[in-house]
Amino acid sequence: MKRELSSASQVSMGHTVNRETVETDVLILGGGTAGCLAATELRERFPHLKVTIMEKAHIDRSGCLAGGMNAINAYLNPGETPESFVKYVRFDSCGLIREDLVKSQSELFEYCVKKVERWGLPILTDEKGNYVPRGRWNIKINGESLKPILAKAVRDAGVQILNWTVATNYLTRDQRVVGATGFSIRNGKLYIVKAKAVIVATGGAAGLYRPNNTHDAQHKTWYSPYNTGAGYAMGIRAGAEMTSFEMRYIALRTKDAIAPTGTIALGVNAPQINGKGEKFMATRYAHLGGDSAPTPYRAYGPIMELKEGRGPVYLDTRHINSEQVKKLKAAFLDMYPSQVLYWLSNDFDPSKEPVEVQLTEPYIVGGHCQAGYWINIDRQTTLEGLYAAGDVAGGAPYKFVSGCWAEGVIAARAAGKYVDQVQRVEPDIEWIDHEQERVFHPLHQHGRTFSGVRADEVESRLQKIMEEYAGGASRYYEMNEAQLLVARKHLAQLPSQLDLIVAEDLHDLMKVHEILDRIDVAQVLVEHLLHRRETRWPAYQTRMDFPERDDQNWLKFINSRRDPKTGGITMLERPYEQLVPGDRYKP
Ligand SMILES: Cc1cc2nc3c(=O)[nH]c(=O)nc-3n(C[C@H](O)[C@H](O)[C@H](O)COP(=O)(O)OP(=O)(O)OC[C@H]3O[C@@H](n4cnc5c(N)ncnc54)[C@H](O)[C@@H]3O)c2cc1C
Repeated sequence: MKRELSSASQVSMGHTVNRETVETDVLILGGGTAGCLAATELRERFPHLKVTIMEKAHIDRSGCLAGGMNAINAYLNPGETPESFVKYVRFDSCGLIREDLVKSQSELFEYCVKKVERWGLPILTDEKGNYVPRGRWNIKINGESLKPILAKAVRDAGVQILNWTVATNYLTRDQRVVGATGFSIRNGKLYIVKAKAVIVATGGAAGLYRPNNTHDAQHKTWYSPYNTGAGYAMGIRAGAEMTSFEMRYIALRTKDAIAPTGTIALGVNAPQINGKGEKFMATRYAHLGGDSAPTPYRAYGPIMELKEGRGPVYLDTRHINSEQVKKLKAAFLDMYPSQVLYWLSNDFDPSKEPVEVQLTEPYIVGGHCQAGYWINIDRQTTLEGLYAAGDVAGGAPYKFVSGCWAEGVIAARAAGKYVDQVQRVEPDIEWIDHEQERVFHPLHQHGRTFSGVRADEVESRLQKIMEEYAGGASRYYEMNEAQLLVARKHLAQLPSQLDLIVAEDLHDLMKVHEILDRIDVAQVLVEHLLHRRETRWPAYQTRMDFPERDDQNWLKFINSRRDPKTGGITMLERPYEQLVPGDRYKP
């Protein structure tokens, strides 16, 4: 791999920015779930291609899989087919999905799961050797080491990895994406990675809304706190079309520890109960589908119980025995060890008391929900040379680990073919100088007499706006047009502060860019929330001024595109296409 070291350029306040230029064939942004499978697939199918991963953290323990996983949530267990999967996902997402994307990802579940099993992932099997299901679409794994297993496969495949390097923007030429820039939080260099194609796989966006926990525990969020929407923001700034940001994800999680509840609800069959001990989903919300209702309704039920004064809300585990308690703890140790520590430190026994649950702040993700790049069946975005996979890609909810793997594989196959057909194009050099200034400006500001604005101050302001005017947890996730217009107005004022933002060191600089990215994502999100004048996914998107689902007018995708020159956001509507026949509302 050719690496040329270009001259260092002197910048103000004594900070020197060294540049390093890397040339590769395919650049993958984000070495997580989707990124790792994309990288290995590329090296397997196109061994002549150079593949580089730019990863903000360290690939061994980064992103959603950092703490491990105990189940693969999307798998075709015996008797299921891609078509039955599409029907279920369509039902679970209240009638609106990109069926082409959902179907094509499900066709590769088996391929990906078997591959990762060969790399060393322990998957639980029964006495006949069949995978042990956990619910209709899940299989159980011992996935504490899942991320190091993926990372090793990537290294073994000969992929170049730039760890600790934060991607900041795409390099473009005439509407074509030809690489990306990033800065290292270890050596402070600006990396200019020139590529023939780019696959973005940076995950979704946490930290747009005020988190459940505050102060020292504020980053104890459900979603990886370092996935702050960089890939979305880069696409927004470059003018890529985005879809379905308004389908926010609100997770039902254990109180305070914020651990996933599927491990309990599916693992030991624990129903939700309220403070009076009522199984409210089966009674008060039976007309919506009760315990089998689409996932948004299973968040909406407990929210209404809390709002109407019937909290706290629990998962009732009092029927389980000590052996099941042990297994439950083992399952959490494979994925969310802090839940076990939390129980131990509070002397809590789930066989004696029910487990209290709560709803998280909203996240923007294309894996549990479908916010992200508008892509075609090859996972190509609307920008030439740019492909998207995993939580950053839109239109295909219910992706989870295996769907992200599948999208990484599909994007890799398409990007590899594309690269073999095109010539390398040089990015705009002037633009790189401009990007260097944008990236390092907050460091240059530090030490000037004016003390400046810190990233966490802007973060608090952003989260306050989103919380109070765009349906945060303390507002029971509800919103109306008047509130969203206030959110739009306040968000529009934020960029005027950004010239004053300061970073003390490289870690601080990373935090600055996280907040800059989140502001771009929040602005687009508010426009999406404003545009959909119905309530399609209660809790995820509750419009109090349009409280009903309106299929006649709104069974379609809301998309957006920000003009890279003017910054103006245009809203677009794209039709829903039913490819798999059957009732839209039956699984
Ligand atoms: C707590 C939790 C539990 C879950 N449990 C399950 C489960 O049991 N089963 C299941 O199937 N699914 C589960 N999921 C969902 C699943 O883990 C995700 O959908 C999937 O891992 C997302 O993959 P991804 O590749 O899109 O993102 P990630 O795997 O998060 O990868 C994104 C990568 O991009 C990097 N990155 C971010 N910003 C930048 C930047 N600016 N520059 C460079 N790199 C960057 C990140 O560091 C990260 O490595 C869970 C998710 C969470 C958060």
